[in-house]
Amino acid sequence: MFNPTAFAPRLIEWYRRHGRDLPWRHTRDPYRIWLSEVILQQTRVRQGMPYYHAFVEKFPTVSDLAAASEQEVLRLWQGLGYYSRARNLHETARIVAQTYNGVFPDNYAGLLALKGVGPYTAAAIASFAFGEQVAVLDGNVYRVLARLLGIETDIATPKAKTEFARVAATLVPADEPDTYNQAIMEFGAIQCTPVAPDCLLCPFQAECAACNTGRQHELPVKSKKGLVKNRFFHYIVVRFGDGVAMKQRPAGDIWQGLYDFPLVEQTAQESIASPDELLGLPAVAALGTPTSVSLEPEAYTHILTHQRIEARFWRLEYNMPPVLPPAVQLYTAAQAHDLPKPVLIDKFLKTVFV
Ligand code: SF4
Repeated sequence: MFNPTAFAPRLIEWYRRHGRDLPWRHTRDPYRIWLSEVILQQTRVRQGMPYYHAFVEKFPTVSDLAAASEQEVLRLWQGLGYYSRARNLHETARIVAQTYNGVFPDNYAGLLALKGVGPYTAAAIASFAFGEQVAVLDGNVYRVLARLLGIETDIATPKAKTEFARVAATLVPADEPDTYNQAIMEFGAIQCTPVAPDCLLCPFQAECAACNTGRQHELPVKSKKGLVKNRFFHYIVVRFGDGVAMKQRPAGDIWQGLYDFPLVEQTAQESIASPDELLGLPAVAALGTPTSVSLEPEAYTHILTHQRIEARFWRLEYNMPPVLPPAVQLYTAAQAHDLPKPVLIDKFLKTVFV
């Protein structure tokens, strides 16, 4: 039977033995803690670590981050995906720098009032930086609590937020809320993992509802994600002299603020099969007459949470300046390198400037 009072000390004991030594666990600086939390949302520790170091090095304080241009921030974020996180990070940094004189609020309620900071991040900063007794609730915590206590509420529903928050709040100890919160997240990350929980060596095996009923793989309950949308991109890679034509992506679609090539999006049925079909498109015809057109044989696939992008790249060479739309410009290899780009574009660009 699960013992709520004994849980925190036993979990903390497990954490002291098995927890990983991560750089953001050695600081009480709310800026660094916030940075690590934003980077690690939807990102594994190993992938996020170099980004954390790069951000801390380039922007040692929240005011340094606030003073950067969006382009610099996106460029440093490049490869981490979910770029709205980077834009929100930047916006929140500006608010902290301008409205709060570069000092983060020192409690949960104040942090939560910050635009761009949700309950999870506010709880993480409040507890790790200021030792406040608040519970963090991320995917790891949902999983651990659902399994230990046999909670069957669908974690994708708003009802689950309230229910899990209530349970989680009763378990956080007053004396070491920060260590406890680190411990429960770490426990979910390395012991009670989604696919292969290590129940055999788990200190809570005897009292775990999921383990005792063989339901580790059924808990937590999570309703299926929405359908994945397939999109078909035909990129027009315009070369003239030592430049390649690129543009910034607009608001309201994926990769907002990043740079890619001029693009024609098609449905699968209407995909462009030949150079003549491509050159017949008004947007491509308006560029002028290229000296050569070739289709890259390889199709690049890029999977996002709710979208699957299949991209083809057409190379168009011009010996007269192409007539580019106002938002499109020619960039040299060095300039293009410095632009923030989706990974897909970054990869292809390496084949453009060889
Ligand atoms: S016994 Fe298994 S399912 Fe239960 S908490 Fe431990 S690792 Fe998770």
